[in-house]
Amino acid sequence: MRLFYIVFFLMACFLLTPTDSNSLSGSHISFSSTEMARGDIILLSIKAGMEEGPRVIWMEKEISLFFNRDRSLWQGFLAADLNSTLGKYKAIIQMPLSDFEKDYYIQVVDKDYGVRNLTLPKEKVELGKESLNRVEKESAEVNALWEADITLPKWSSAFIMPVDGDIVGPFGKRSVINNLERSPHTGVDLRAGTGDPVKSTNNGKAILVADHFFTGNSVFLDHGGGIISMYFHLDKILVKAGDTVEKGQVIGLAGSTGRATGPHLHWGVRINGSRVNPLTLVDISKGLEE
Ligand SMILES: [Zn+2]
Repeated sequence: MRLFYIVFFLMACFLLTPTDSNSLSGSHISFSSTEMARGDIILLSIKAGMEEGPRVIWMEKEISLFFNRDRSLWQGFLAADLNSTLGKYKAIIQMPLSDFEKDYYIQVVDKDYGVRNLTLPKEKVELGKESLNRVEKESAEVNALWEADITLPKWSSAFIMPVDGDIVGPFGKRSVINNLERSPHTGVDLRAGTGDPVKSTNNGKAILVADHFFTGNSVFLDHGGGIISMYFHLDKILVKAGDTVEKGQVIGLAGSTGRATGPHLHWGVRINGSRVNPLTLVDISKGLEE
């Protein structure tokens, strides 16, 4: 009988624990999930004093943590790129002061984001030499952003939606044009009319403001801690490169510049270079305030 109660108690504990957590003397480590899809994000929380200064290595890169003084909590995001190879990945957590080091394993699983099949006239798909050169130059300019040094987190609270519109183009959808696989949709398309204000998802700094072939008037914001957000097809840009922006600040007006079929906002987010679903960041970052 007693054994039954112990087993029952252990089962109840297991069932009632929503996240995988781990305790050590005075500290507590928890992940919002132990499994994630490609393009997904996990919130990591470490209950530890400021002096602990934990270090986290995820997919062989150090991730930035934000320290919440009131809650004595270190928090950061583990991201898996939309195209990451499926499998188990290691997160190493170190706390030098307590001489603590432990490996945690997160499973990256497959997710079917759907396919869009399109048949278009050849001249609409194949770019001329001049356009190709331009696209190459512009993608080098953008790729350099992912290589830049990571600055300290400028965010301390949840990320917000840049516009209120519905999703008109979901994240991750693959495009097959004339039977050829093209790059997947690495952001989310949100309904927005020409001239609708577009807000910064969080505090940050404009690191690139440009008019690009595919993405039209584009703004890239660095939020620190390895998080960069981007806003495409804008009708007007209201910030300059180097400007500091606040969460909720209008950084531009929605439009249909570049290769867009109509006015909308394409919104993308990278975390440590990984292409992730921006809506997941909005959702999961609520955990910074709970
Ligand atoms: Zn888009």
